[in-house]
Amino acid sequence: MIKRKKTKAIKIGKLKIGGDFPIAIQSMTNTKTSDIEKTVKQIKRLEEAGCEIIRVGVPDLNSAKAIGKIKKQINIPLVADIHFSAALAIEAINQGIDKLRINPGNFPKQELAKIAALCKKNKIPIRVGINSGSLEKDILGKNKFVTPEMMVKSAIRNVRLMEKMGFYDMVVSLKAPDVLRTVKAYEMLSEKIDYPLHLGVTEAGGEFSGTIKTAMALGSLLLKGIGDTVRVSLTSDPVEEIRVAWEILKSLDLRQRGVKIVSCPTCARTSIDVIGLSKKIEELTVGIKKPTKVAIMGCVVNGLGEGREADLAIVGEGGNIALIIKKGKIINKIAKEKEFEIFKKELKKII
Ligand code: SF4
Repeated sequence: MIKRKKTKAIKIGKLKIGGDFPIAIQSMTNTKTSDIEKTVKQIKRLEEAGCEIIRVGVPDLNSAKAIGKIKKQINIPLVADIHFSAALAIEAINQGIDKLRINPGNFPKQELAKIAALCKKNKIPIRVGINSGSLEKDILGKNKFVTPEMMVKSAIRNVRLMEKMGFYDMVVSLKAPDVLRTVKAYEMLSEKIDYPLHLGVTEAGGEFSGTIKTAMALGSLLLKGIGDTVRVSLTSDPVEEIRVAWEILKSLDLRQRGVKIVSCPTCARTSIDVIGLSKKIEELTVGIKKPTKVAIMGCVVNGLGEGREADLAIVGEGGNIALIIKKGKIINKIAKEKEFEIFKKELKKII
């Protein structure tokens, strides 16, 4: 069991993060926010996949003005990502946004004070989002590379700036595009502040490499109890980000949702179609919410043990026979040809 670092709890719309609240999964749309229909459609798909907070980019006034209409049609808190323009932030607040993501250093002080006051009045939290690619010039100096120390310095500076304005309802992120800087920066920051941390590796890459990179960085931090909300950034359909985020949290037993498949890598002993079955079961169970553990094992060597711990398992017994194990008990011995059909039937009874 991972002991999480206790952070301050904050409220984003109806959802709470930080404190003892579950680590929330979030993503960002890649539609034009001003295209309300497309944006809502994408958010609905993300909700279905298990997204709990959704962020939209707000690069122009039409996007800011779309926020109210988008919010009415979705069920999860909506966050506006805004850079440089106080006017856009104020419009987003007026439209009923649930949270703002800004880099406070990007705004003139007077305008920032106005945003902070309005957010405070409307109980809208702010994510102070520090990104290695857009660090303040005076912190970077003549250096070519941004270090974790520089990122932390920028985060603390921005957090203190908000605190001086009497604003404390914050989440902080410190994103870099690689594992080592991301982990080091968050570890250092976590020692210094107790605001909830939004974890992510920015611009992580495509589905394959981005997933590995993100799992390593987020995994290292989550194992140390650091992190209150996660965003996986992939150059892909954002629904993939949600699937990856869930897998990361599920594999650390930090959250439970849907089917968790345990399947062996197959070897010379394999006597059922483990690869085919696991692919089919994965497809069959996309979108299932009930936490269910399924084991698909090629033989009895480790199969019986895994079968005992799963809600439902199929294990090759050798020859032409597969065992179906439910809650630790062998309930059926079936011919290999019927393995998928019968296993699917049993699975549908429990999911
Ligand atoms: Fe091989 Fe059996 Fe292990 Fe699967 S469970 S990899 S078939 S020994």
